[in-house]
Amino acid sequence: MKGTIYEEDDFKASVGKYGQDKRQCYNTTSDQQMVQDLLNKIPETSGGAGVGPFLGGMPSTGKLRSSPQWGIVSEELYQVILRFQSKHAQDDGLIVDGHVDPHSPTLRALLKYAYPLMHIDTDALARDIFDNMPKRAITQSALAYTNVQLGISWCQAAIDALQTYGRAFATGSEDADSIVAKALNVHFHFDQISDRSKSAKQMDLILANFTRIKDTLMKPDFAFEDIATSEAAAIFGKSGDASWVPPPAFVARKNRKWIFFTPSFQERSATSGYGPNARTAMVVHEAAHYIDDSIRDYAYEWTSTSQGINQADPTNACVPGSDPKCLYYAALTPEQALNNASCYPTFAVHVVRKFDSPSTRYGAANPTL
Ligand SMILES: [Zn+2]
Repeated sequence: MKGTIYEEDDFKASVGKYGQDKRQCYNTTSDQQMVQDLLNKIPETSGGAGVGPFLGGMPSTGKLRSSPQWGIVSEELYQVILRFQSKHAQDDGLIVDGHVDPHSPTLRALLKYAYPLMHIDTDALARDIFDNMPKRAITQSALAYTNVQLGISWCQAAIDALQTYGRAFATGSEDADSIVAKALNVHFHFDQISDRSKSAKQMDLILANFTRIKDTLMKPDFAFEDIATSEAAAIFGKSGDASWVPPPAFVARKNRKWIFFTPSFQERSATSGYGPNARTAMVVHEAAHYIDDSIRDYAYEWTSTSQGINQADPTNACVPGSDPKCLYYAALTPEQALNNASCYPTFAVHVVRKFDSPSTRYGAANPTL
């Protein structure tokens, strides 16, 4: 067997028999040797005369052993050519005519099957791999990454506004009609604080919290994690409840503290999932829980006099009134508001939008926004 690798141009004339009366082709000894060597490299299962093992397309032996005779093809080689052509009549479109010609489809097929690794269509392979990749949606935490930038900008707007207002407040020159002053009243209930030094201290705490929330969002890979519904169910004590739908995101410990995103955290489609502002509000809300365990859910931004959070049983809403444990957003004390997760995205968005309307606040209750 020739030690070098055959190329198409090495084949000069023709090998085999042609025509109805099966006349001999040129059948030079070198061309016959090339066809025989190629067929010996091709496994019998691929129409060749090779005998395994076929490691990397290199058989250890081949069945065609005869020394070619100038001008005459052996019956053995002729039959293997016919067999190879029949084998690849379908897949390579070979004509079963018993001869190999220069630059013919049969010659190219011989080279392709003899050197399979040299004939891999890498473009087709890449397409095939791409086409067969599992078509799975973006993971929930990866989706949350797309909301991080907006969340950071909300936090930064709140930080800037609080710093500017805080400097003026320290000298008694604050503008009580400014958006930030109004937002501090609506969300953190500064209008209930009569002591200016307490207001200043409260402002510092809010500012520090926003800074830590922003820092968390700037390193989301450290805080964000996916969680399957079954695992979330175990954390919420809902294992075995097949109808339980996890909250889109929550903070819990698994070795350490994480902001978990469940399969409910999805892009908005026709009737499910959440729009970008709703998702961003959730991300900021969860980051508030994440930075401090004392920041909890006293009242969501959507709660009102007609529907509050039942602190005795948060899974069931309640109607505020006689029950002091039924809390709603506007009725929190300044201390509760400081430690209420929903106050952070809602305050920041108030500063950014320069208005606040409870019915269009960003969060899970307005999933289309
Ligand atoms: Zn919460």
